[in-house]
Amino acid sequence: MTKIFNDPSEFAEEALAGFCDIHAGLVRQVPGGAVRRHRPAQPKVAVLAGGGSGHYPAFAGLIGPGLADGAVVGNIFTSPSAQQAYAVAKAAESGAGVVFTYGNYAGDVMNFGMASERLAAEGIRVENVLVTDDVASAPPSEADKRRGIAGDFTVFKIMGAAAEAGAGLAEVVRLGRKANSLTRTIGSAFHGCTFPGADAPLFSLQDKQMGLGLGIHGEPGLFDTELPSAKDLGQEFVSRLLAETPPGAGDRLAVILNGLGSTKHEELFVLWLTVAPLLRDAGYTLVMPEVGELVTSLDMSGVSLTVTWLDEELEPLWTAAAETPAYRRGNPAVQPGEASGDETSDGAAAPAAFEAAEDSRAYAGNCLAALDAARDCLHTAEARLGDMDAIAGDGDHGRGMVRGIDAAASTAAAAAVRGAGAGSVLTAAGDAWADKAGGTSGVLWGAGLRAFGESLGDQRSPDSSDLAAGVRAFTDRITGLGKAEPGDKTMVDALVPFTETLLRLTANGTELRQAWDAAAAEATAAAAATASLRPLKGRARPLAEKSVGTPDPGATSLAMLFTVMGPFLAGSGKPVTVAGTDTAANSQPAGARS
Ligand code: ADP
Ligand code: MG
Repeated sequence: MTKIFNDPSEFAEEALAGFCDIHAGLVRQVPGGAVRRHRPAQPKVAVLAGGGSGHYPAFAGLIGPGLADGAVVGNIFTSPSAQQAYAVAKAAESGAGVVFTYGNYAGDVMNFGMASERLAAEGIRVENVLVTDDVASAPPSEADKRRGIAGDFTVFKIMGAAAEAGAGLAEVVRLGRKANSLTRTIGSAFHGCTFPGADAPLFSLQDKQMGLGLGIHGEPGLFDTELPSAKDLGQEFVSRLLAETPPGAGDRLAVILNGLGSTKHEELFVLWLTVAPLLRDAGYTLVMPEVGELVTSLDMSGVSLTVTWLDEELEPLWTAAAETPAYRRGNPAVQPGEASGDETSDGAAAPAAFEAAEDSRAYAGNCLAALDAARDCLHTAEARLGDMDAIAGDGDHGRGMVRGIDAAASTAAAAAVRGAGAGSVLTAAGDAWADKAGGTSGVLWGAGLRAFGESLGDQRSPDSSDLAAGVRAFTDRITGLGKAEPGDKTMVDALVPFTETLLRLTANGTELRQAWDAAAAEATAAAAATASLRPLKGRARPLAEKSVGTPDPGATSLAMLFTVMGPFLAGSGKPVTVAGTDTAANSQPAGARS
């Protein structure tokens, strides 16, 4: 149980601020995360690790000479936003290119991908290296779908050492991908972890049971089994990893026996006593093995074993010196402070003024009222959506959606006060949603709202066909980014029937509000029908069987939101006055608040 916190929603930010304070000699907090205190004297490839909070020392604890140049730090267990990744890259970049490296999770892939597009458009060379070490998350034939867990550390370490030694961007990326292809991890959980402020763990196991194949976001194990002895557990781990020995692999191994957060070092040492002889008996030399906490999962009780088959080019990088807040090895060639250069600045741009037609501003009031209705709806549904997501995902869907809508609604209201039209109100809402929500759904909702706003524009109040085109743009952006199709058990299962129905009915001349309500009813039915599906995308995919019987959380929330936003977006909800400090929260039509 996490016991020390103030406002739980501020936990990750406060933890980062405290970390940066105590380690001020090595790291510096910047918008979106942290970077090394000093820029390198010579341009070097910036290796930027990233992901959600809750995994310390991953990721910010690994910033320093010989390892990462910076870390992009999301909220607990949720991907940082594209804006965060972009901002950290700008602070860390020194002229030789940037590589983002992170575990393979859809939200991270999309956010780091979008940040990369933005950096590339500015002429900064940027690459992404994904870690896919968790053998429990997909079969070998689908190794590229595996998620990243403690193997993150090995891959980061090898890339960090290569960049420190002066390797160019392509070489750092090649070595990182090679290290990943030779790294395998298996883990197990004994007890769930608890979010700050939550009164129950994210998942639980029966007493004396163990979940084999845990994920570091609390995704429960692939199957539960009676708690074995340390010897049996060690044997299980070693045999599962050696069964995946890559073809042509050598006989020297980097090894990490990793505690997940509340497993004692002494317990790890007991397990090591089985693991090390088994690996040696299999003919391996263990090169600088690590036993400790390198990638954790809040206060989860659990352990994972990672092996990396080394060769002559990876081994010196694995053993190279590093000096970071959480991890030190040897004497790094570059001492902290030695490579002094400019420090980064946090300069935030001043808000731009808006130009919009009067009737677009009026419709912006409807958009604010719609967002406000969505906010009420999500606050009410937060716990239920979280519970649905905890069945096969990581339990954060309710929390992520609430963070997203809160940021979206308040940013949209502020834009409207400054004179924004409907298009700009929705793009501002989308950007704020993407920045604050975290998670796959946050990226998709944020990007979708932005596309919706771009489609509507600020020149006029939308008619039925404008609105249908906006919904089409929202949908195309989400399917384009997430690549999910109907039947994959995602929000797309509710979104596609909504959009198709709305487009069909508005093209027939059906009155807009009637068409919208019919489309929302289709979406609601389609969301409920996802219960029988197995997820083929997202975090729930590795636990597909557990998900059968429960509707997809993202489809459920999407259907709910389109339903409650209908009266406002589709016209009959009366426009809301937007003047001075008046916001949607206190000026929407009576009866809309729950
Ligand atoms: P995360 O999965 O990152 O924890 P959330 O829990 O907030 O994010 O959202 C989970 C929802 O996201 C799923 O229920 C599903 O509807 C949706 N989702 C996941 N992957 C995709 C995808 N590739 N395309 C569309 N929707 C997706
Ligand atoms: Mg989730």
